[in-house]
Amino acid sequence: MLGAQRGSSTVDQSFLCSPQLQDRQQQQQQQQQQQQQNQRRARVADDDDVDGAATADGVPQATFVPRDPRVRDGPWSKIDASLVTAAQADAATAARRDVTPTAEGAVLLGQSVEELRELVKGLGHEAYRGQQMYEQLMLSARDPTAKGAHSIADLRTLPPKLREQLEVLGFKTGRSAVHHSVSSPCGTRKLLLQLSEGRLIEAVGIPLDKGSSGSRLTVCVSSQVGCPMRCTFCATGKGGFARNLRAHEILDQVMTLQEVYGRRVTNVVFMGMGEPLLNLPAVSAAYQLLHEGLGLSGRAITVSTVGVPNAIRKLAALKLPVTLAVSIHAPNQALRERLIPSAKVYPIEALMQDCVAYFAATRRRLTFEYTLMAGVNDQPQHARELAALLRSHNMAAHVNVIPWNPVDESEYKRPTNAAVAAFRGVLEKAGVETTLRVTRGLEAAAACGQLRNSFQKQAVPEPQPLR
Ligand code: SF4
Repeated sequence: MLGAQRGSSTVDQSFLCSPQLQDRQQQQQQQQQQQQQNQRRARVADDDDVDGAATADGVPQATFVPRDPRVRDGPWSKIDASLVTAAQADAATAARRDVTPTAEGAVLLGQSVEELRELVKGLGHEAYRGQQMYEQLMLSARDPTAKGAHSIADLRTLPPKLREQLEVLGFKTGRSAVHHSVSSPCGTRKLLLQLSEGRLIEAVGIPLDKGSSGSRLTVCVSSQVGCPMRCTFCATGKGGFARNLRAHEILDQVMTLQEVYGRRVTNVVFMGMGEPLLNLPAVSAAYQLLHEGLGLSGRAITVSTVGVPNAIRKLAALKLPVTLAVSIHAPNQALRERLIPSAKVYPIEALMQDCVAYFAATRRRLTFEYTLMAGVNDQPQHARELAALLRSHNMAAHVNVIPWNPVDESEYKRPTNAAVAAFRGVLEKAGVETTLRVTRGLEAAAACGQLRNSFQKQAVPEPQPLR
């Protein structure tokens, strides 16, 4: 878990700004949100389905949450279940790593040296050209100040004939374009990346230069385009699900932020758009790519889940040495089902049993993420219930307390600092370790899905073939 220290209660340093700066940012953001809401109300009626709307200086205009018409508020439904089933069915495709050109094309990023050697040999070239190709594709993985090949034309060490063959056969490097970028005074930077079919995803860089944890650059990656889980507090969940990201598209997010910052990424968290455990094959493949290509260990990688039946046990069976973070957000079934409708089919007790099984199989401490929403789940009795829930299940765990980060058109509100402190106090008194995540970059539309909603003013479109 980010910034966690065993045996003590800590503040999550990677998300910290000074308290004064945080207060000022919060005030500014609240004013900005009010302004945005007023603007939106005035123009939303005649502003349908406009992509790429931004002011002349590139700052996003007022946002509203684009909705997939199939996605309805309320209890978990058969339609929701069918979208989840579709996401799981799509997951095998997302993990595919073959280099054979198909109707969807083929990408070079994410292929091993051996696979690229075989590819160039098949095109009539000497095998060492495959090694050259790998090195150029992964240049920034080794040297963050360099830029890897983003296009076939960038593969300059290859002979022109080979580059031409790759172009004619429809190969792509697999690198995405930066559609837009926003940053906060703390250095947090959120990128909107444009995938080959035009859809947008978010990736966030969170640098930390000083403090007890040393110098770090954490990258928060997306694992899906949209998300079918429909958590009530999430901007991404309102737009529906389009497709799973492929392994190279997850690697691309990390490499792009490494190039943007010009320094080495030290940690990766799967906490962006999408439910990673619905896309487990590609997440697992991406773990291997991050490990082999960027030298990241499992200890540096956190996979966050809101809970998918059977998936936590599957993750344990894969023996990936990553940290598992479970988005619990409520201490009992009724409240969890209200916040996370899918809890209806994956009750909190079943989730906890799977967590116990995960701990038994891996001996890895779990993180439970608990987003505090004012007047909803932030009362001392909720903290007492959460402590009792954790104590009654036999596993090493700690709680990451996250004050709610406002989302446009959301019914939820940020809790007061006093409520946050009281909540943590109850947990700690009950012997539960906590960390506090102070969200950075509030002014940068930083909550999951918010930046994308500033530009893509329609719900996720129907899946299209990859170029
Ligand atoms: S919080 Fe995560 S799992 Fe829930 S809808 Fe948003 S992206 Fe999906």
